[in-house]
Amino acid sequence: MTPTEFSPATTSQLDRADALCTRQGGRMTQQRREILGLILDAKTPVGAYDLLEKIKTPDRRPAPPTVYRALDFLLEHGLIHRIERLSAFVPCTHLLHDAPGHDPDHCHDHDHDTCLHTAQFLICKSCKSVTEIADSSLLTTLRGICREQDFVMQGASIEVVGLCADCAAKARPAGKAARKQAAPSPS
Ligand SMILES: [Zn+2]
Ligand SMILES: [Zn+2]
Repeated sequence: MTPTEFSPATTSQLDRADALCTRQGGRMTQQRREILGLILDAKTPVGAYDLLEKIKTPDRRPAPPTVYRALDFLLEHGLIHRIERLSAFVPCTHLLHDAPGHDPDHCHDHDHDTCLHTAQFLICKSCKSVTEIADSSLLTTLRGICREQDFVMQGASIEVVGLCADCAAKARPAGKAARKQAAPSPS
């Protein structure tokens, strides 16, 4: 088996993910690591079948369940998110950046689902880029609504569809209409 080679930047993110899993009692196998690396390196969300294609070699043809199991593991450990509307996966931004407020130790060490609940995404229809935002006030609002309804929230993925700043700027000469497309969609 010849695992894909990753850049030093990706490798250090993978090492961080590895340490995180170990602390959570999980085991980052070679295959899980490779799949996470491919998701980290992708510029846009990747689907399970794209991943399957990427890890296929002449002497290695992993079966779809192998990929799904690896994805489940990565989701469970908060390393990636699933974009429902695209049926595709993106790395958790908390893993990508050391920015203050995005401390992975803070986010992932305590109550697991606190982090999963906050998954909010801005999806650009034009370039397919996905930006993860973590706005705790949105979560607080949702929690309040659920409490009023006696609804037990187990997860909430908010996916906002529209145009990113770059694509909106490109679309602007055609008129202001482009901005109006950026409306939140229930999911
Ligand atoms: Zn995240
Ligand atoms: Zn865009």
